[in-house]
Amino acid sequence: MNTQDNTPAMSRRRIVGLAAGSLAAGWLPLQSWADGDEDDGPGSSNGTRSSTAATLATTAIAGKRVVVVGGGMAGMTAAKYLRLWGGRGVQVTLVEPDAVYTSSIMSNLVLNGSRSVASLQFTRDALTSRYGVIRKAGSIVGIDIAGHRVTLADGAVLPYDRLVLAPGVSFDDAYGLTQADYDTLTPHAWRAGAQTALLRTQIAAMANGDTFVMTIPKAPYRCPPGPYERACVVADFLKTARGPNCRVVVLDENPVIQAERHTFELAFSQIHAGIVQYMPGVSNIAIQAATRLVSYTDQLGTPQSIQARVVNPIVPHRAAGSAPGGWMAQAGLNNGTAGRWANVDVLSYESTAAPGQGIHVIGDASSCGMPKAGHVANQEAKICVDAIVRRLLGIRGDVLPVANSACYSPITASTASWLTAVYQYDPVDARMKVASSGGQTMPGGIPATATEAASISTKNFKDMGTWFTSLMKDTSG
Ligand SMILES: Cc1cc2nc3c(=O)[nH]c(=O)nc-3n(C[C@H](O)[C@H](O)[C@H](O)COP(=O)(O)OP(=O)(O)OC[C@H]3O[C@@H](n4cnc5c(N)ncnc54)[C@H](O)[C@@H]3O)c2cc1C
Repeated sequence: MNTQDNTPAMSRRRIVGLAAGSLAAGWLPLQSWADGDEDDGPGSSNGTRSSTAATLATTAIAGKRVVVVGGGMAGMTAAKYLRLWGGRGVQVTLVEPDAVYTSSIMSNLVLNGSRSVASLQFTRDALTSRYGVIRKAGSIVGIDIAGHRVTLADGAVLPYDRLVLAPGVSFDDAYGLTQADYDTLTPHAWRAGAQTALLRTQIAAMANGDTFVMTIPKAPYRCPPGPYERACVVADFLKTARGPNCRVVVLDENPVIQAERHTFELAFSQIHAGIVQYMPGVSNIAIQAATRLVSYTDQLGTPQSIQARVVNPIVPHRAAGSAPGGWMAQAGLNNGTAGRWANVDVLSYESTAAPGQGIHVIGDASSCGMPKAGHVANQEAKICVDAIVRRLLGIRGDVLPVANSACYSPITASTASWLTAVYQYDPVDARMKVASSGGQTMPGGIPATATEAASISTKNFKDMGTWFTSLMKDTSG
C-alpha cells in the first residue's frame, strides 16, 4: 500500500476499513446494517445521534457475559464491537462513572479559546440504543480473579466470562504537588475536563511579559506529541493575543523531543522562535503551587529556577488503579514498568499477570509496543474483541494483527501537522512494531519509523477535524 501521497485520514480509513474487513470477513457472518450508518458529526455524538438499532452479527455464541471497565476511547470501542461482532449471545456491561465522555483529543484547542470543553463531550447513548450495551454508572474497586467477578464502589458485584479493563490513566502526586493542587492551582489537564477549563482561564488571564511553564514526564506517557503540540498552541495564543514578551518554557524530562521531532524543532526554532524555550533532559523538578515558583536541574547539572505566572505540570502517570493499594495493584495486574502499566499478550490483550483468566487490558493502561493514543486505543479494542469473539467461538485467533495510528498536532490556531504509522505483530519479540514507513516496507532490516507530515498546513488542520469526527463516530456512535 502506498500512502506517501495520502493524508493520515485517508490512511486511517483504509487501514481501519481493512482491519475491520479482515476481522469480520471469512469467519463472522456480519449482516447488513439496519441503517445507513451515516456520519452524524460530533454534534450528534453529543446526544442526538440516531437511535436506530444496528444489525448484530449472527454467531453461535450464547449466554456469555463480558464486563468492560471504563467508557473512554478503548472501552467504548470494545463494548460496541463486542456486540457487533459477537452478536446477541454476548451480553456486554460497560461500567463507567462519568455521565459523558470528554475527549482529550483536540483538548489543546480549548487552551487558545478555539474550542470549548462542551464541544469535546460525547454521550454513550448510542452504545445502548444501537448496539444493546448495558451501561452501569459506577467505578470498579476490586477484582476477584478466581471468582470471575468485579466489585463496584456501591457494593454491586458483576460476574463475567471475560473482563475488559480500559480505565485509562491516573496521575501521580509529583514535584511537590497534590491532586488538590492539580484541581485548583496547577492543572495538568492531561485528562480533559474541569482542569482543561481551569488552565484556559489561567492562560487567558496572562499579560504580555508573563511566563507559562510546562513539564513533560519521562516516556512512556499519554499522547507522545501532545505536550509539544500544547507548547505550540499556547505560544501561538500568547504572542498573537497578549504580546511578544510572553514566554513558554518547556521542561522536558526526556533527552529529546519524543514525537514529530522535525516538526516541533521547526516550530520551536522558527514559527514560535523567541516565545518557546525548550529545555530537554531536566531533572529534580519542584513546584510551589501557591507561588508558581518552579525549580529544576538543567541538562548540564546546574540548578535553575523560574517564576511562572501559569504552571502546567504534565506529571508522571500510570494505569488507573495501579497506584499502591489501588484495585489493579491489588489484583496484581500492573506487572509492567515498575508497576505502572499492565503487560499484555498483544494477540489478545489478555493480561500476562493472570494468564488464562479471561482478563484483558486495553488502551493507555496497557503496555503493548504502540503509543498511548486514542486512535491506538480504538485499534487495540478491535484486536482484543476479535480475539475474545474467536475464543468464545472456539476458533483460532489472528496471529498477525495489524493496527495503525494517526495523530494530528495543531501548531497554530489554523495550521497543523500529523504523524502516522502502521503496526504489525512481530512474532520474534511478541510485540507490535512499526511495520512500514511512508507506506513502504523498509528494505535491509532498517527499522521503520512513524511518518510525519512534510509540512505544517491549513489543509492538515481541516483534515484533523474530519479525522476526529470519524474516529469518535467509530468509537462511540
Ligand atoms: C492534550 C491531549 C491531546 C491528545 N491528542 C491525541 C490525538 O491527537 N490522537 C490520539 O490518538 N490521542 C490523543 N490523545 C491521547 C488520548 O486521549 C488517550 O490516549 C485516550 O483517551 C486513551 O483511551 P483510554 O480508553 O485508554 O482512556 P480514556 O479515554 O481516558 O478513558 C478511560 C475511562 O475509564 C474510566 N475509568 C477510570 N477508572 C475507572 C474505574 N475504576 N471504573 C470504571 N471506569 C473507570 C474513566 O472515567 C474514563 O472514562 C491526547 C491526549 C491529550 C491529553
